[in-house]
Amino acid sequence: MSAPAKREVVIIGGGPAGLAAAIAASEAGCRDILLIERDRRLGGILNQCIHDGFGLHRFGEALSGPEYAARYIKLVGELDVDVMLNTIVLNLSADRDLLLSREGTMEEIEASAVVLAMGCRERARGALSIPGHRPSGVYTAGAAQNFVNMENIMPGNRVVILGSGDIGLIMARRMTLEGAHVEAVFELLPYSSGLPRNIQQCLVDYGIPLHLSTTVVEIVGMGRLEGVVTAKVDERRRPIPGSENFVQCDTLLLSVGLIPENELAREAGVPLDPVTGGPKVDNRCMTGLDGIFSCGNALHVHDLVDWVSEEAARAGRFVAEYVGSRASSKSGRDITVSPGRGIRYVVPETIRWNTLTDGRGTPLCFRVLEPSRNGVAEVLSDGVVIAEEKHGRLHPAEMVRVTLDSKKMRRIAEKGRTTLEVRIR
Ligand SMILES: Cc1cc2nc3c(=O)[nH]c(=O)nc-3n(C[C@H](O)[C@H](O)[C@H](O)COP(=O)(O)OP(=O)(O)OC[C@H]3O[C@@H](n4cnc5c(N)ncnc54)[C@H](O)[C@@H]3O)c2cc1C
Repeated sequence: MSAPAKREVVIIGGGPAGLAAAIAASEAGCRDILLIERDRRLGGILNQCIHDGFGLHRFGEALSGPEYAARYIKLVGELDVDVMLNTIVLNLSADRDLLLSREGTMEEIEASAVVLAMGCRERARGALSIPGHRPSGVYTAGAAQNFVNMENIMPGNRVVILGSGDIGLIMARRMTLEGAHVEAVFELLPYSSGLPRNIQQCLVDYGIPLHLSTTVVEIVGMGRLEGVVTAKVDERRRPIPGSENFVQCDTLLLSVGLIPENELAREAGVPLDPVTGGPKVDNRCMTGLDGIFSCGNALHVHDLVDWVSEEAARAGRFVAEYVGSRASSKSGRDITVSPGRGIRYVVPETIRWNTLTDGRGTPLCFRVLEPSRNGVAEVLSDGVVIAEEKHGRLHPAEMVRVTLDSKKMRRIAEKGRTTLEVRIR
């Protein structure tokens, strides 16, 4: 292996997060940016999302996934950004040394700053412990999306979907449009885990039933899936004896959650948040390791790609600032952000008052624990309410964002306040 190459900024992952981070870092003055993608093309998971609905916030248009990605890929091509495709980052150290595998050879790079933008992966059957044999016909919804949209292969004809996450809902519609019969979607929780707009447009509009508080308790079939046994669950999510029902099908699609892709972060020793599964970050998207940033679904699973792009652009601007000044992550007067009543998690976990330089404000992104109507999201600083927002509807599937004014935050920090809490009233 030749001597390690030195690069200023290395971005791992060429999906919407990596693309937006590269563009923002370049526009903020970085001249040495390397974007690494393991696939043969840029765009990430958007390449297989051929339905529309992307970019409503960012562009005010309903684009398909590839159309949304194409706008960013074009910009990256026009800027001073080096792109390495078919290249996988195998290892990352706390000192930002990377080991890559590219066309059968290994390479090492020493980077001044690294952006983790590896996206997320789907929870598969192994995470569910459903009894039964291992017949063919059981896929994650994303794998089925790839078969249908990228390879032109139909995974089956008679479909059951377990979990009402957005990818499962989108695939219920997609499989129907491709001529399959979707028997039903079964959801363990008493409410859907997908966006309300997807329930309407992908299930209701196509007459596909959604059974809440119901799960699959057995997979039936040896060579090929023959059916599944479903059961209602009680309030502690345990199957209710006697409520079992056999549903004939040849295909089971799993849409039971996404997990940030963070093996590299874990190996490097980046502190992770046990709730999000992604790194703990500050308001610059910098992790607990100096010079290692994270954004997009590798940081926390987003509901809309528009927010992925926005967050990644902020990370890119702060990466440029970091490599320009090597501003330490230690400020001595940090504000700790924590989830309060009714909140599952908040990102970022820390605000560093000496880095509140972004005139665009400091967004706090969070998800609620349960659906509610007419809730008020409050941000408290050492017990004092400093921001509040009314929401007609709050749902765990929808990410909520409250943007704090950076000047106000500086004043709060200068007063010696050290905590922020987000809660629902
Ligand atoms: C199967 C699936 C379907 C989805 N469908 C929808 C949808 O229909 N609508 C919607 O709004 N959202 C959807 N999402 C959410 C979507 O992932 C996000 O909106 C957005 O794509 C996240 O952007 P990202 O850049 O963080 O991640 P990604 O788009 O996942 O991009 C991450 C990139 O990093 C690369 N990578 C990972 N590890 C490495 C490594 N070690 N070395 C090099 N490259 C690496 C990957 O190949 C990938 O290209 C879906 C997610 C999944 C998993």
